[in-house]
Amino acid sequence: MDYPKTAIRSLKHLSCIVPVYNEAKNLPQFIPQLISECRGFAQKLDIIVIDDGSKDDTVQVLKELQKEYPLTVLVFSRNFGKEAALTAGLSRVDPKSEATLLIDADFQHPLACIASFVEQWQQGYEMVYGVRLHRKDRPLLLRLLSTFFYKLIDRITPIEIPHDAGDFRLLDRDVVQALNQLTERERFMKGLYAWVGFSKTAIEYVPEDRLQGESSWGLKKLIDLAITGITSFSNLPLRMWSVIGAIVSSLSLIYALLIILDTLLNGVDLPGYATITVAITFLGGIQLLSIGILGEYIARIFTEVKQRPAYIISRVLSSKPSKDND
Ligand code: UDP
Ligand code: MG
Repeated sequence: MDYPKTAIRSLKHLSCIVPVYNEAKNLPQFIPQLISECRGFAQKLDIIVIDDGSKDDTVQVLKELQKEYPLTVLVFSRNFGKEAALTAGLSRVDPKSEATLLIDADFQHPLACIASFVEQWQQGYEMVYGVRLHRKDRPLLLRLLSTFFYKLIDRITPIEIPHDAGDFRLLDRDVVQALNQLTERERFMKGLYAWVGFSKTAIEYVPEDRLQGESSWGLKKLIDLAITGITSFSNLPLRMWSVIGAIVSSLSLIYALLIILDTLLNGVDLPGYATITVAITFLGGIQLLSIGILGEYIARIFTEVKQRPAYIISRVLSSKPSKDND
């Protein structure tokens, strides 16, 4: 896909946040290309790379790159997930930076789009986000589940989360500040971007194939993220049980009256095992399900009250000489 060449004014200060997990093979090409793309319009450029507990040579590669390029590298003590990595990056953005770009390191977010992002931001939008035109890099099952998830979240939450928009975004300084005020530990970034508000616009892009390596988002991680998304932004799953409970108890009251009437008219009747068994198993199932949903929320409350940080940074590697330089 060709992206329009835009005539943009230059930006005084741009920050880029790049979360990486096992990207040793992509980074040697990605960092220079990102820098050369952004240097075209940013007078001052900060690149913050977050190593999310990579098991390959990512940190080594980043150290090599630092010899040539000015990078700030935050090394997590283990894998905390992309949401935590983005959170860490956002908290390190220089408050003077006018805008902040969030971008993946695997070339799936086309660098050629960045200029259009900046142009839209210069036109006054405080958040510019990329929308994937087709999502063929994921198996059909995952795509169906993701469509279902967005439909569900649309219906049960008050916030509007755009479909097929990910973390490829340009955020104004005010948006970064707002996101940094949100202290929750279970972070569903797509929900948080929507929750903070601000004026937004979308730019369509076609995701490229991953240059090297594999996507680290398996079915389990995506389901976890979906549950975090729903439970962080909607109380409906909790409330619906009161309605279901009211319906089921009303029905059983009617049924009880019918039985009393039947007994008065026809005397005691022994048969009825089937009804009892169905009622017990049905209600047992409903109760377990509702307890499970309660459990999801309690687990999240538990995570929040423990007040553990969302991530631990084990080292900060800075290209510029500073006291926390490794
Ligand atoms: N990533 C991360 N932590 C993780 C998984 C992924 O920081 O636990 C990074 C990864 O290195 C990449 C970006 O997040 O820069 C997107 O990940 P990936 O390509 O695996 O996801 P997909 O593009 O399939 O959504
Ligand atoms: Mg990717």
